[in-house]
Amino acid sequence: MAWDTEDIRKGREDDWFHRNEAQMMEAARQRREAAESAKKTEASEELRKAHWRKCPKCGHDMEVETISGIEVERCTSCEGIFFDRGELEQLLVKHQDRKGFFRRLLGYPDSR
Ligand SMILES: [Zn+2]
Repeated sequence: MAWDTEDIRKGREDDWFHRNEAQMMEAARQRREAAESAKKTEASEELRKAHWRKCPKCGHDMEVETISGIEVERCTSCEGIFFDRGELEQLLVKHQDRKGFFRRLLGYPDSR
């Protein structure tokens, strides 16, 4: 009789481990996934920070300049100029004085 209850107890323990092993593995998988996605956003955040306002051509800092109400970014080293699409559209659609804008952009005095 004694071994019967022992076997039953052992069988229950095995069941418990079986159920909980699955749960523990699932919990570990979720922890792993959470850590991986945290690393992913951290990595893309680092990438964004590393390249934020950096010249796509030479990697130096870009400075924001407002010319005729339109924001442009100019590289402090190679003087490359960057426009957002919205800024270009603004220039195309709304801006009446495009020639003046480009003169000012390139540092020429106003002709008028
Ligand atoms: Zn540059």
